[in-house]
Amino acid sequence: MMTGKDYKASLDDGRETYFEGEQIANVAEHPLLGQTVESAAKGYDRFYDPTPGAVGAFMKVPDSAAALREQVELHETVDLLTHVTYASIMTLLTAADRIEADLPENAARIRAYVDQVQKADLRITQCITDSKGDRSKRPSQQDDPDHYVRVVERRDGGVVIRGAKLHISAASMGHELMTIPTKSMKPGDEDYAIACMVPVNAPGVKIINTTYAPRHEDTRDFPISGQHHTPEGFVIFDDVFVPSERVFLDGQVELAGLFAHSLGLWERLGGLSGMVNSFDALVGFAQLISEANGLERVAHIREKISEMLIHATLVRSSLEAAIENCQITSDGAAFPDELYTNAGKYHGAANWSLMVRHLHDIGGGAILTAPGIADLENEHVGHLARKYMSTSQAVDGQYRTRLFHAIRDFTADAYGGWNAVTQIQAGGGLYAQRIVSRLHYDFERAKRAALELARMPEYIGKV
Ligand SMILES: Cc1cc2nc3c(=O)[nH]c(=O)nc-3n(C[C@H](O)[C@H](O)[C@H](O)COP(=O)(O)OP(=O)(O)OC[C@H]3O[C@@H](n4cnc5c(N)ncnc54)[C@H](O)[C@@H]3O)c2cc1C
Repeated sequence: MMTGKDYKASLDDGRETYFEGEQIANVAEHPLLGQTVESAAKGYDRFYDPTPGAVGAFMKVPDSAAALREQVELHETVDLLTHVTYASIMTLLTAADRIEADLPENAARIRAYVDQVQKADLRITQCITDSKGDRSKRPSQQDDPDHYVRVVERRDGGVVIRGAKLHISAASMGHELMTIPTKSMKPGDEDYAIACMVPVNAPGVKIINTTYAPRHEDTRDFPISGQHHTPEGFVIFDDVFVPSERVFLDGQVELAGLFAHSLGLWERLGGLSGMVNSFDALVGFAQLISEANGLERVAHIREKISEMLIHATLVRSSLEAAIENCQITSDGAAFPDELYTNAGKYHGAANWSLMVRHLHDIGGGAILTAPGIADLENEHVGHLARKYMSTSQAVDGQYRTRLFHAIRDFTADAYGGWNAVTQIQAGGGLYAQRIVSRLHYDFERAKRAALELARMPEYIGKV
């Protein structure tokens, strides 16, 4: 396994990665993106085990509901790169299980790859979302044929791919790009039905980074995003050669969607478990700021917080149900329940803006305008700022100001804006979650219930 130091050194591998118009010489040493590398390096040190052949505890495949719960809880405490590596491994194993019957050789290739990557202690990021061009057209019908990643050449020993995958979390910080189709494909789309693993430093891979990281020198006013931030990568495959042993799907259009669905399950489980904590934090902020404002007993404030805590509880219940109702595959791996995962993630994503609306309504304008920590420390105005930010003898001005900073950072500034869009889009938009929920919902049970209630039992099983 690698230590944090080994990991940082491993990123100096000739990768071509950019930020704000400049090529980055060494991502580990970049003043802003290097901070994300530092968080990931701490993850390496945390899970380091010198025993030969050891596999990081965060990569272990769960084999029961209890083990799945342990992994979910563990992953709430790790950095995003560590988390997406686990989600990628679980996606690959889920896909291997699902293609086994049609492509046993490819399933074996996937499992061998997973074994190798676990032992080499590499980090994987998930490249699924294509640039997509005109959304109403299929990949092979686009004006520009490169809007979905495709095979442009088949050679002895491998394929050459071209295209771009967008919004890829932590792409520049990992070692391997898990590159899979973004959706189901139809006959005619064969060149787009490509799933493969690409090293970040493969010739032709170019990554443009964006980040919500605060750009202020004094990050004390950004208590959340100033501590941890992860850039997204705009990953371009400019004719990249991929050797055959790294190709898991090539041309089988009928199996393309299966990779996207496998990733969706693990991405949405991660999204759902993240929301469980975030929803509690939103309730906590609403309660704390209402207390600091002296309004916690006022009826309309209590009602809003009650509505918030009901959503927080429903999101938590969905996660519980997804874990408890997990399915065990033929390989003995525990996969969360699709319906509870998707319905729970949908419920949380759809209600994020409502939670934030209530919090902003309860909190007041100082969410945006509370003075900075340095202002509170200023010898001329600091004591006055603290005096007027205080609301009573029991509520210290600095305490209340810091609460406002956290609320702004989490919900109303660069990271807050990132959160608002990400809750909805990451892991596929709301529509994708509705489709998968629909696929797994028991309509027969619903129809039976309706027919029984209507005293029409003779139609049960016939309509
Ligand atoms: C912060 C962040 C991190 C992310 N991380 C990753 C990552 O690590 N890896 C990764 O692969 N992706 C990642 N994503 C991408 C995410 O999965 C996509 O943003 C999401 O799937 C939506 O795709 P899109 O952005 O292309 O939007 P669009 O597909 O353009 O969707 C916009 C809207 O149009 C609708 N729509 C699109 N096409 C159709 C159609 N044919 N018919 C009907 N309606 C349609 C959608 O339902 C949606 O409502 C991330 C996104 C964000 C914001």
